[in-house]
Amino acid sequence: MSNELSALEQQARLLDPDHAARAQLLDRVIAYSQQYLDGIADAPAYAPPPDPAEFGQEATITENGVSLDHVLSLLGEHVDSRSINTTSGRYLAYIPGGGIFHAALGDYLAAVANRYAGVYFASPGAVQIENQLLRWMADEVGYPATASGNLTSGGSLANLTAIVTARDAHGLEGDLIPRSVVYLTEHAHHCIDKALRIAGLGKLIKRIVPVDAAYRMNAQALDAQIVADQQAGLKPWAIIASAGTTNTGAVDPLTEIAQIAAARKLWFHVDGAYGGLFVLCPDGKTALKGIEQSDSVVVDPHKTLFLPYGTGTVLIRDRQHQYAAFNAHADYMQNILDEDGELSPSDLSPELTKHFRGLRLWLPLKVLGVTPFRAALAEKIHLARYFHEQLQRIDGFEVGPSPDLSIVTYRYCPKRGDVDQFNQQLVKALQQDGRIFISSTVVEHKVTLRAAILSFRTHSGEIEEALRLLKHHAHALEQQA
Ligand SMILES: *Cc1c(COP(=O)(O)O)cnc(C)c1O
Repeated sequence: MSNELSALEQQARLLDPDHAARAQLLDRVIAYSQQYLDGIADAPAYAPPPDPAEFGQEATITENGVSLDHVLSLLGEHVDSRSINTTSGRYLAYIPGGGIFHAALGDYLAAVANRYAGVYFASPGAVQIENQLLRWMADEVGYPATASGNLTSGGSLANLTAIVTARDAHGLEGDLIPRSVVYLTEHAHHCIDKALRIAGLGKLIKRIVPVDAAYRMNAQALDAQIVADQQAGLKPWAIIASAGTTNTGAVDPLTEIAQIAAARKLWFHVDGAYGGLFVLCPDGKTALKGIEQSDSVVVDPHKTLFLPYGTGTVLIRDRQHQYAAFNAHADYMQNILDEDGELSPSDLSPELTKHFRGLRLWLPLKVLGVTPFRAALAEKIHLARYFHEQLQRIDGFEVGPSPDLSIVTYRYCPKRGDVDQFNQQLVKALQQDGRIFISSTVVEHKVTLRAAILSFRTHSGEIEEALRLLKHHAHALEQQA
């Protein structure tokens, strides 16, 4: 028995490397990450995907381990150098992600000390960090002291949290659901639709409010629709505005919508997953005026504070509503509830145990201060305006509305041939080139190109290169035609 136990112990101790073994592992990881980061300036923004069969073989889990060096080489070859490169400053597609280095250090430390961030009693410090971050974002948005919130895994879960809170705050259940109405535009993010279904509100009536020429919600049409619905005996429930649509970056007229929501007694939710945190810079603050009057708002630090993926935020104006929707009690948690009056994340979200995700945001903010974040966001707005201006000077390009924040829409109009097809070919040509990566969308039935400028590595040099490459490939394609 004791022989067997000591053999087991010996094997199990591999899970707990000593100082010297840790130093070796760290060395390798530091060397890999330094090489990766040193290469980003020249790395393609898009590279062909890996062969799934080959990596499938290599990625299988085995009884005995292999060297960390081997694992890092797999990562380098099959994962970190393939398909879209979200760490590149020349990545201008969808909504660019971040991954600031200080946040990676925060993640490392969070995992090493593994504090229990879901409940105040378990790690008062970790929960205070989360609550401080929420307080800071609520202040920046302009919410009152009664606000609460939660650090989520992303914008989708943050929107779901807000929708569940709004559902319960208005007592939406049973027969009321199919008579209740939600108002949004065709540009609302698809996670809203998903959240409504998950929240049991799939049978709700959805009104797609028309947009103006800049793709912003038409407030007059919204009000008229609410009045018509009220007169028809329906229950207008919530308005879901976008503060920066994913598609075109348009900010709905938040102040006017707030007035309508207040007058007609609807819940006013703002999906600011892409754009909300632009409140940190003066031009963004102006563009987002009215956001402070909402009942709930979503902002995504893994987009607009340049964090690695896995950090969204929901803020709720009146904490009572959030607590009412999510608090729960259990006998085995007797000793750990509400000891010091500090709110526990687990009482404000579907999660109990969760990643100490606050550290990846708090550490960079403490070490760097807020100033560089404000500067980077102001810079993105300037770059978007510059890109919009310069594109108009290149023969053949036609631009969408001037950007509310940092997304520009445009397309190339060749002298002959199908315009939609040409623009799809242009995206393909740029993808094959790989130096910049852009994505396309469909706006008013037209294939439209986008530039979403949000990476902390995108500066004027990258924008100049994007302009050069767009011009080069568009004109080359036109000559071929
Ligand atoms: C990205 C985005 C979402 C979804 O957020 P995830 O973090 O990807 O879950 C929701 N709304 C808008 C406007 C977005 O841009």
